[in-house]
Amino acid sequence: MVNWGWEPMSEGEDTAASWYEATRVTSPEHPRLNFDLDVDVCVIGAGLAGLTVAREVAKRKWSVAVLEAHRVAWAASGRNTGFVLPGFHETIDNMVERIGLDHTKQLWALSEQGVEYVKRTIAETGMPGVDPVPGWLHVSKLHDDDTTRREVERMRWIGANVEAWPTERVREVLPNPRYFGALHFPGAIHIHPLNYALGLAADAQTFGSHIFEHTPVIAIDPAGVRKRIETRGGMVRAAHVVLACNVQLSDLMPQLGATLLPISTFVLVTEPLGPILDEVVRYRGAVSDTNRADNHYRVVGVDRLQWSGRMRSWEADPRWVQRGLVADIKRNFPALGKVEVAHLWRGTLGRPVHRMPQIGEIERGLWVVSGFGGHGLNTTAMAGELVARGIVESDQTWRMFAPYELVWAGGTLGRVLAQGAYWGTRPLEAIGEVLARYREKVRTRRKARAAVRAGSGHAPAVMERQAAPAAPE
Ligand SMILES: Cc1cc2nc3c(=O)[nH]c(=O)nc-3n(C[C@H](O)[C@H](O)[C@H](O)COP(=O)(O)OP(=O)(O)OC[C@H]3O[C@@H](n4cnc5c(N)ncnc54)[C@H](O)[C@@H]3O)c2cc1C
Repeated sequence: MVNWGWEPMSEGEDTAASWYEATRVTSPEHPRLNFDLDVDVCVIGAGLAGLTVAREVAKRKWSVAVLEAHRVAWAASGRNTGFVLPGFHETIDNMVERIGLDHTKQLWALSEQGVEYVKRTIAETGMPGVDPVPGWLHVSKLHDDDTTRREVERMRWIGANVEAWPTERVREVLPNPRYFGALHFPGAIHIHPLNYALGLAADAQTFGSHIFEHTPVIAIDPAGVRKRIETRGGMVRAAHVVLACNVQLSDLMPQLGATLLPISTFVLVTEPLGPILDEVVRYRGAVSDTNRADNHYRVVGVDRLQWSGRMRSWEADPRWVQRGLVADIKRNFPALGKVEVAHLWRGTLGRPVHRMPQIGEIERGLWVVSGFGGHGLNTTAMAGELVARGIVESDQTWRMFAPYELVWAGGTLGRVLAQGAYWGTRPLEAIGEVLARYREKVRTRRKARAAVRAGSGHAPAVMERQAAPAAPE
């Protein structure tokens, strides 16, 4: 059964449909701001970025207020796929080309610190309902195992904690003939992101942060030493303002907002699938099986499958992609049989042109933490800590991100191009996958013939079957 529950299609209402909402821990409602307030730091946006800044500022004993237009983690932070992975949305190759090898290594290390931050925070606070599970398997449907091994060597060179899994090992835990080797990241985890965000908010409050919900900021006057942040119910004055608004920043600061391309992705959770799920998905970490926006999955709630993908560069109704997502599951795991959808929802991430986070002080006392793309669970943690240290301790590590300045994302044309690139590469990837499977069949057939020629007995039946002439795929 599908829990719709969102009308009209705005980011606001459709959380009701999410598995996370159905399994969220109890958390307090935060008040609206209806008085004037003076603080050291005012954070706008209670997603993971804003909450981490607030927690880290408050831990350092500065006063901080968080203003949230809706509810804590209402947007991407409470709707994402929940994979906490090292790295960034940008590829290593592009990073090395742009900023050089040493700088790439340093940024990679920071990205790993983001993962460690999340793990440490969960452990230190004992936050409930987050359920961290280790491991991320990035499976190839295209390459042979040599290519995977070479990729691992390259990634280790920049300091990644990664290992190569050969095809047989992958197929032992994910019996799918479309799968070849994989990169395995043992240090990654997957979590319940909404409960993590609620836990962060609770801990930030314990350190003294003030959090206000249903309090949209309508104007900022960033001039002067005390900046003025206006809401309908009251005014905040602060020495530092942190913009942690992700794609919704366009409403407040259109020019800054225009540096992000809004990308919507969809997540579904099935009805319980029973014991068959254990046979079909034996790996309990997170899995991604393309380089694009499709097929990210994991087991949740004992025997349900969570699956995400099918990006759109506009706010499409999830109902339009449901069939496509279910088809993706069936194509990869036909043995699951009939798959019923229990929850289906949409979330929007903000992607800068260079696919790297926007972190830093853009005017004296005006900070931005944004643009985390589809890689925000580790990078919001890292950025939140860097910006808090930058504000309170004048630490300059955030400047490591200076080469990735604010770049206009191309407006409507940018969205059209992003969608076109995604749709364009889907058929290319499909062709590559078919070729990879065809090459595997040819290799198997050769081995079988060689075994027969060597007179080493007969080729096993299964090999004979695979040795049949490959269909002209
Ligand atoms: C479907 C989906 C799947 C994803 N999967 C993953 C994943 O598996 N792993 C991963 O690392 N990343 C993933 N991401 C990306 C990740 O979720 C985001 O990068 C991250 O959550 C961004 O956090 P944020 O705090 O910057 O923004 P948000 O969570 O969007 O928070 C911004 C907040 O600012 C508030 N706000 C905006 N304007 C105002 C205003 N004027 N006044 C007051 N408040 C305002 C908004 O209401 C919102 O709550 C995914 C994203 C999506 C959408």
